[in-house]
Amino acid sequence: MTIDTKAIIIGAGPAGAGTSIYLTKKGIDHVIIDKATFPRDKVCGDACSGKTAFVLRKANPEWTKELYLNEEHNKPTHGILFAAPNGKLLDIPFAPSKYEGETAPGFVAKRLTFDHYLFEKLPSEHATIFQQGIIQDIRHENNKVTVSFTQNGAEHTVTAPIIIGADGDKSIVRKHFINDNISEKAKAVALRAYYKGITGMHPNNHIELHFLPEIQPGYFWIFPLPNGMANVGIGMQSNLVRSKKINLRERMLYAIKNNPNIAPRFKDATLEGKIQGWGLPLGVDQKTVSGDHFMVVGDAACLVDPFSGEGIGNALFSGMLAADAIEKALEENRFDATFFKEHYHNILYRRIGDELRIGSTMQKLCRFPWLFNIVVNKAEKSPELSKTISCMFTDLDLREQLRKPSFYFKILFNK
Ligand SMILES: Cc1cc2nc3c(=O)[nH]c(=O)nc-3n(C[C@H](O)[C@H](O)[C@H](O)COP(=O)(O)OP(=O)(O)OC[C@H]3O[C@@H](n4cnc5c(N)ncnc54)[C@H](O)[C@@H]3O)c2cc1C
Repeated sequence: MTIDTKAIIIGAGPAGAGTSIYLTKKGIDHVIIDKATFPRDKVCGDACSGKTAFVLRKANPEWTKELYLNEEHNKPTHGILFAAPNGKLLDIPFAPSKYEGETAPGFVAKRLTFDHYLFEKLPSEHATIFQQGIIQDIRHENNKVTVSFTQNGAEHTVTAPIIIGADGDKSIVRKHFINDNISEKAKAVALRAYYKGITGMHPNNHIELHFLPEIQPGYFWIFPLPNGMANVGIGMQSNLVRSKKINLRERMLYAIKNNPNIAPRFKDATLEGKIQGWGLPLGVDQKTVSGDHFMVVGDAACLVDPFSGEGIGNALFSGMLAADAIEKALEENRFDATFFKEHYHNILYRRIGDELRIGSTMQKLCRFPWLFNIVVNKAEKSPELSKTISCMFTDLDLREQLRKPSFYFKILFNK
């Protein structure tokens, strides 16, 4: 089959789905190719923040209501519990969601079901979808991009003026068009497991981040899921895992057996399935995300928050912005690097650059566990500081405080 279309998307995870959903809203024909068959798993912590809800609500307000209603698959979460390196706990409730039908500001959903939910929103008269598509070749000539791929042995060719790489951490589109060497400092590696029967889960389903002193910068997490399940994992900056020869699996199982905040709660818990690992491309600095006839989105664009490890929201968000840029490109018949730099790269970093920079600073601060301990100790005793930290989750200007030494000075000296 040979198809001539307006845009080709490689990958139908949150980044590709976000791009496709918004192209369909604009009435732009496109082809989306994924190598997997949905529903498919993706190794992840499964926690979705307000940004995920924002992009979906903007696409269709009924979708977020649907997600929150489906408590069999999605666990609404109302806050976050930090365990400082010294073991002290800080429990921070989020401000309630102000949107009708959204029972909490965030939720936890297995990617197996969440990504399938997104995938099911894709079929439309504007989207031609291929699953089990194996890319054979990407060519860029005569102001067109041509992708050759096979599906169940049949050969296909698609041609369009623009390609969008939404193919995750090991993006072949990124490799083909940019081929940059991303430093190990800008990557993290993490393990995920599903456990049943962990006790002492927060009554309001707070997600838990345990900053263990032996894995800084990084953390051990427990995120509540429906049906007595939880997503449990551990993650750390890749270069440190390598240079310190850290066996993350051993560290994770050691914490489950021995950490005083964690071990008693796993006494009767059972591991369901395997412990699996995957990489996280961190947004520690601005990367090339577009050029002549291409854009990359989501993990292919390295947009994971360096502190929280969150990437689903930015994947959807970048997909939405890429669709806006495609609409403009088609209107102006411009598909060159300068155009996409102005209409995608610059807008993307204007919208999420500050957030990523703050995440980067916080990740660096985790190298000073004593500072982390002091902040948590003080916040535990000060409702005002606790409230400030809670508001930081939704207020970016307030979060900017975390980059300023004066914030820590005030905490240290009770100013
Ligand atoms: C252990 C771990 C825990 C995490 N926890 C969280 C969390 O709790 N919350 C959060 O927000 N983020 C978390 N993240 C990050 C999050 O998983 C990613 O940022 C997110 O999945 C990015 O979405 P994406 O669509 O860019 O890529 P992906 O979700 O990886 O989707 C890429 C898609 O492209 C397809 N594909 C890949 N290669 C090809 C190819 N050659 N041809 C065709 N198709 C292809 C894949 O099949 C896949 O469907 C975590 C990551 C890890 C590894």
